[in-house]
Amino acid sequence: MNVLAFDNSYARELPGAFAEVRPAPPPAPALVFLNRALADELGLGEQARQGPRAAALWAGALLPDGAQPIAQAYAGHQFGGFSPQLGDGRALLLGEVVDRLGRRRDIAFKGSGTTPFSRNGDGKAALGPMLREVLVSESLFALGVPTTRALAVAATGEPVVRERALPGAVLTRVASSHLRVGTLQYFAARRDHSMLRRVADYAIARHDPDLAGREDRYAGLLGRVVARQAHLIAQWMNLGFIHGVMNTDNMTLSGETIDYGPCAFMDRFDPETVFSSIDRHGRYAWSNQPRIAQWNLARLAEALLPLMAQGTGDRELAQAAEQANAILRSYDEQYGAAWLTGQRAKLGLTTGAHGIDPAKDQVDAVLAADWLALLHRAGADYTRAWRRLADCMEGDVNPLRAELLSGNEGSGDTLAALDAWLARWRARLRETVSGAAPEPARRAAAMRQVNPWIIARNHRVEEALQAASDGGDLSLFERLLAAVRSPWDETPERAPFAEPAPPAFAAVYRTFCGT
Ligand code: AMP
Ligand code: MG
Repeated sequence: MNVLAFDNSYARELPGAFAEVRPAPPPAPALVFLNRALADELGLGEQARQGPRAAALWAGALLPDGAQPIAQAYAGHQFGGFSPQLGDGRALLLGEVVDRLGRRRDIAFKGSGTTPFSRNGDGKAALGPMLREVLVSESLFALGVPTTRALAVAATGEPVVRERALPGAVLTRVASSHLRVGTLQYFAARRDHSMLRRVADYAIARHDPDLAGREDRYAGLLGRVVARQAHLIAQWMNLGFIHGVMNTDNMTLSGETIDYGPCAFMDRFDPETVFSSIDRHGRYAWSNQPRIAQWNLARLAEALLPLMAQGTGDRELAQAAEQANAILRSYDEQYGAAWLTGQRAKLGLTTGAHGIDPAKDQVDAVLAADWLALLHRAGADYTRAWRRLADCMEGDVNPLRAELLSGNEGSGDTLAALDAWLARWRARLRETVSGAAPEPARRAAAMRQVNPWIIARNHRVEEALQAASDGGDLSLFERLLAAVRSPWDETPERAPFAEPAPPAFAAVYRTFCGT
């Protein structure tokens, strides 16, 4: 079936970096989800959008013309321990398509059966977790965060056995590439420097073509990935998003969020929040994400070091290590600046008219930290408290007071601390007056463009997945998907999706990895 114009540069240029594998035949394909906006971007043909042929296609029964399915090799540090061989154990890259805007994008299956990298896994995926990936990735996309996208989900008609038998499904993922830190680690660990160079040059051609051919291109690549990840993690942090499994095989070179397994948005603000059932020591807690990203980038630097060194002598390697360290150190500054820019916008301190005085960086960082400390002490809902602060901008303090009192720890002291903080905030706002009237309304509107009203809330996600997976009822999934795709504007019919989870739900909520 000719539905996408494939051009498979990875398979063509990197033999030795993958295994050719056919998708497992699904017994009874049924299309569950198709992302129309994304299909339009890719120029996806009509027959691939609905009907039995579309179902067969997205469940893996029928390969589109031009696809060349391969399982990609990669290694990775998982929870700090190195695995020299992970690879696509339940995913297949079908190939690449140049989209309507000229961007080269990977089209890949997840859950399409075993590969030489499957180890003891079954290569399969359950419908619930695949729909979860759709909801959370579409939520991040709508919030302006770089991410892989979900193009389609098709049920296979085959049960997959987890704690119990669940309906199986295949998700089709679209990414600007699936190159990971672990892709380079795979060849670095084998000391296969010729393949390492080819993969690094491929990554440069794909993501940083302006560096191609330059002598310092590998240091350049490291610098670009550091910058992209610093900005990505700052966005996650500002939104209260917890990835949950920041292993180096789950960190892209493109700077897109990938691997929607145990991720979740934080509800009550607590920096130590962890949802993943296997993250027992909180390695990937919300507050640890920035330095874990830097740790992962240090592993990337190690993998690139043999290419960065201009020779194999100790002196050349020491020089390259020094250069790599300088690039890694720049992460702190870039992350810090991106985080502060995000916090300032959320606080309403960004004015269109004037830049922010750099002498105020420290003042604003402390103002933001004190606000977060207030939310933490009160046990307030992270997303909603920010939204209530926008109400304060327009003079209505009561919703924010109510939010801070609704957490378990809210009390009279909390309100006194809030009033003291609000006085400092208002004083700082006066210093950033832009002169454009009407000032408060304009600023509140700007705050509501960065502080979402709707995120993919855990209890709503779970109830939608349960209805879809257990009862075959997609109506909740569809309503929630529509809601997370419009995160900024308040409408009465979407109000239920903005409500925090009942405390009893939030207290015990856990998420799972390779489900
Ligand atoms: P993840 O935690 O999802 O990043 O996966 C880590 C590794 O386990 C990757 O190599 C995956 O391909 C592999 N994996 C996860 N789930 C399965 C599965 N059901 N069958 C085979 N391999 C899997
Ligand atoms: Mg993964």
